[in-house]
Amino acid sequence: MADKQAFMDQVIAKNPEQAEFHQAVDEVVTSLWPVLEKRPEYRKGKILERIVEPERVIMFRVPWRDDKGEVQVNRGFRIEMNSSIGPYKGGLRFHPSVNLGILKFLAFEQVFKNSLTTLPMGGGKGGSDFDPKGKSDNEVMSFCQSFMTELCRHIGQFTDVPAGDIGVGGREIGFLFGQYKRVRNEFVGVLTGKGLNWGGSLIRPEATGYGTVYFAAEMLATRNETLEGKTCLISGSGNVYQYAAEKTLDLGGKVLTASDSSGYIFDEAGIDREKLAFIMDLKNVKRGRIKEYADKYGVPFTATDPNADHNPLWNHKADCAFPCATQNEVNAKDAANLLSNGVYVVSEGANMPTVPAGVDQFIDAGILYGPGKAANAGGVAVSGLEMSQNSLRLSWTREEVDAKLLGIMKSIHKASYETAKEFGTPGNYVNGANIAGFMKVADTMLDMGVV
Ligand code: NDP
Repeated sequence: MADKQAFMDQVIAKNPEQAEFHQAVDEVVTSLWPVLEKRPEYRKGKILERIVEPERVIMFRVPWRDDKGEVQVNRGFRIEMNSSIGPYKGGLRFHPSVNLGILKFLAFEQVFKNSLTTLPMGGGKGGSDFDPKGKSDNEVMSFCQSFMTELCRHIGQFTDVPAGDIGVGGREIGFLFGQYKRVRNEFVGVLTGKGLNWGGSLIRPEATGYGTVYFAAEMLATRNETLEGKTCLISGSGNVYQYAAEKTLDLGGKVLTASDSSGYIFDEAGIDREKLAFIMDLKNVKRGRIKEYADKYGVPFTATDPNADHNPLWNHKADCAFPCATQNEVNAKDAANLLSNGVYVVSEGANMPTVPAGVDQFIDAGILYGPGKAANAGGVAVSGLEMSQNSLRLSWTREEVDAKLLGIMKSIHKASYETAKEFGTPGNYVNGANIAGFMKVADTMLDMGVV
């Protein structure tokens, strides 16, 4: 383990002030250390040293004009992390918190996630510190056009295929695709998450949320259980939340919560389909705040307290938890609260939503814990299927895509479950997903030589 610390010290020294990146690398390297000891060729080929170094980082100025005619300046990024097994693939995030360290953590995770999907996709991530909240459609379009004017030099259907993430949904993908097409004069599958009229795939909007719930169902199946009748805490109210909630209802679960950065609502009677339709309209059309749900349905709303040492959303009696908002939204105290409230299934729709001390508690408690890298891979998997349909110039039906998504989630679960067992940590999906995702990329890097 001393060796591992030396490796991490070097990563931290080389990438100062990138706390989330350090956290993501540390988790993966901890899982991989026993593998490296068994496979000296990985050490000799400096696979780990190479895999933490992005193949390319692009940072650029994004100037645009707001509705008052004032010039605004944001920063744009694309991290092209690893293209061993396919073109770079991963979302774009527009959120004021975006910085190099956060995008490098996301790009790094994406490499292993994409490898687990069984599809030929490398890993990347990008975005901007632009905040779409409170901006008019016209301002979002101006920003997206300026962002793509630079990004379009670096991406392409065979090189790098971005998608959505926090703050980037159907509206933003439309503006981005329109500008790419205009500047490059080509209609190709350079983005995923597109509209159905212009190359999008059925089930892509649903895929991450559905997949996260399919993964939970697979974990439960190992104990001969199903989601029927289970009470579920779900955070967020955006894309991943909405379809995680929908699939939970499909499989007979009860959804108790929804949140955004201003607070959360708790609905003891359960968020049924009609109430979920209200949330979808509130968030996707009206772009309002979750408190309006509490006002409409007369349920408690708890405002976010920035000084609190825990998130009260995670402090209710329940069977399952689906963190679907953002990174590090479940701290050590939240994890303890979840366990003491009886939660024994945690399936992560968000990327790295649980801090390492929380993950350790879940693993020590022996609950069914599906890390984001495995549990939320359904989104990128259907993005991969969107790329296939674009190449074929064909569209598959909803049923076909959903069946393929379910099949992929089952194989991700199987690979993570079996690899965890093979490497002596049965039930530890963190180790299973990290090792299974890594080995395919590492073996390919060895095949391709020092590049
Ligand atoms: P959306 O922008 O659609 O929704 C994000 C939700 O999380 C909103 O309710 C938002 O509230 C809340 N949120 C975001 N940041 C914070 C924060 N710092 N504190 C509290 N709440 C916050 O994003 P998605 O649903 O697409 O993404 C959610 C998570 O899922 C992210 O971790 C993303 O990386 C991950 N993911 C997404 C995939 C996809 O296909 N979209 C694929 C795989 C993973 P508010 O509106 O107030 O900011």
